[in-house]
Amino acid sequence: MNDIFDVLWEGFFEHYSEIKKFILDSTLNERMKEEDVQYLDKFLKKAYRINKKFYGFDLKFKIKLIYTRKEMDKEFGGKTESFLSGFGWDNTVGFFAKSVFEKVTPHKIDVYQDLVTHELNHLFYQKLVGSHVPLWIQEGLAIYVESKKSNLKVYYSEIEKKHLFYRDCKGMWKEPEKSYRMSYSAVKNIMDKIGKNKFLNLLKIYSKNRTKDNYLKLFGKYIKEFS
Ligand SMILES: [Zn+2]
Repeated sequence: MNDIFDVLWEGFFEHYSEIKKFILDSTLNERMKEEDVQYLDKFLKKAYRINKKFYGFDLKFKIKLIYTRKEMDKEFGGKTESFLSGFGWDNTVGFFAKSVFEKVTPHKIDVYQDLVTHELNHLFYQKLVGSHVPLWIQEGLAIYVESKKSNLKVYYSEIEKKHLFYRDCKGMWKEPEKSYRMSYSAVKNIMDKIGKNKFLNLLKIYSKNRTKDNYLKLFGKYIKEFS
C-alpha cells in the first residue's frame, strides 16, 4: 500500500474514536464494533485502488461510519430514502456500518464493495471537476466504475433526456432508480464513443470554466446524440 494511504489510515482511526465518543451516550454504543472498521478497511482499500487507477491521481479524505437512519438524515439535512446507504462530499465518505447495514437499508451486505467504491468515486470526481455537478456525470461515472460488469440495463427516455441539459438535472431525481440508470447509460454512451482519457479530459477542461455555456459546448452534442 502506498504512503498516502497509510496517512489516510491514521486519520481514519482518529475519526473512528471521534464517532465512538459521539455514540457513547446513545443506546447504540454497544453496537459500535472494531469489526465494523475492519470490515470497511478491506473494501475501502480496494475502492481506493480502483478509483485511483481510473482517475490517475491520489486523494486524501475522511471517513464516517453511520449507525442510525437519523444520523444519516442529519448528514443529508433531511429525511432520506431507505435505500440510501452512504454519501460522498466535502472530502468525506460515510456509510452505514456493517453491523447495522441490513437492518437500516433494504440491501444485502454483498453490495458493500460497490457502495464504498461508488461513494469514494464521488470524492475523486469532485476533486477533478471542483463540483458535484454535472450530477448525471458524477452518478453515471460512479456506477460505471463501481462495477464494470454492471447489470444496469441501458435506460433511455426522451422525456428525461432534457434534464441532462441542466447540470443539476433539475427534477430528474424524483425517480432515483430511473435517474441513476439514465445517468449511467449516458456516461457509458460517451465512454464507448470517445474512451476514458478523452472523457476525463473534457471534465478537466470544464473544471477550468464551470459555466453553463462551457458545459453545453463540451457535453451538449453528446446529450443530443444520446439515445
Ligand atoms: Zn452517488
